[in-house]
Amino acid sequence: MEATVAITKAETLKPKPDPETLQFGKTFTDHMFTMQYSSEKGWFYPEIKPYAPVEIDPAAMVFHYSQSVFEGLKAYKNEDGEVILFRPEENFKRLNRSNKRLSIPPVNEELALDYLRQLLELEKDWIPTAEGTSLYIRPFIIATEPSLQVAPAHRYQFFIIMSPVGSYYPEGIHPVSIMVEDHFTRAARGGTGTAKTGGNYSAGYNAQAKASQEGHAQVLWLDGVEKKYVEEVGSMNVFFKIDGEVVTPQLNDSILQGVTRKSVIELLEHWSVPVTERKITMQEIFDAHREGKLEEAFGSGTAAVISPIGELTWKGETMIVNGRETGDTTRDLYQTLTRIQTGKQDDPFNWVMKI
Ligand SMILES: *Cc1c(COP(=O)(O)O)cnc(C)c1O
Repeated sequence: MEATVAITKAETLKPKPDPETLQFGKTFTDHMFTMQYSSEKGWFYPEIKPYAPVEIDPAAMVFHYSQSVFEGLKAYKNEDGEVILFRPEENFKRLNRSNKRLSIPPVNEELALDYLRQLLELEKDWIPTAEGTSLYIRPFIIATEPSLQVAPAHRYQFFIIMSPVGSYYPEGIHPVSIMVEDHFTRAARGGTGTAKTGGNYSAGYNAQAKASQEGHAQVLWLDGVEKKYVEEVGSMNVFFKIDGEVVTPQLNDSILQGVTRKSVIELLEHWSVPVTERKITMQEIFDAHREGKLEEAFGSGTAAVISPIGELTWKGETMIVNGRETGDTTRDLYQTLTRIQTGKQDDPFNWVMKI
């Protein structure tokens, strides 16, 4: 299906950045996609136009009550120069789940994917090809209606912007240090933790700052009520390998349903590695470590794909995981996922979509 989009091309194109010095999400491509919503017309006026600031009323509801959602996915080029996406339909499905939680009207997922396809068609020269680099894609929706009423807006704007990003591991994949946060919480049952909505992230900055000050890379979040159960690590889902079995917290409405998480579970099942989704207490991780059974730990998410955990600090005690080395299962997952994502390896699951 080819969706109708008004396309205005930029008159001059920006110079492409040096892939060696790319920072995450600081450089944007020449064009962006936008579409409007009003309760009378539904979604209308899909448009691809030069990337530029937009004029928004200071009373726009997003500025006051944070009614917004976003997604994050990556485009790569395979060895034949074809543009490929990893399970993009999952991102648009999740966008609509987030929309539902934030009382934002749903988008047509197939049309949205086709708008993205047309934007990528125009911007494909922006996809870097060096090892570990990609074009990060950020679809998002904000409430634009000028009103201070505490109620869902009647007007929205949908955007897709894109940013070439460098390797998450310029010096190769290496395990990081994690602080288990036992005061602040990211999300609680019944809250918005399972939606990708801005406020969830800014509410985590103070815990992240505390962790950074103490020399840790990320925060491990516990459940919001008892601070007992493991939920996520930073903006990643989390996995532990205990005595040969891989475990990850079961989904509830305070955990984000990662596309990478889902792919990790499917890959492990495909490899016949035991993998279980269940409630996991921090005490259990601590006990497994003491008994020498905590073999590996890692986070999963689009940005880093797989991020090995080398140590975990909880209540003043530090557990070293696998001698701060990347474990075999962690490495196999990283290599297989990144090779499938870049089209370097067979894709037995049909995860990759060519544009
Ligand atoms: C986006 C995100 C993830 C990872 O999801 P992916 O689809 O794998 O990128 C995990 N946790 C949080 C809180 C997130 O925002």
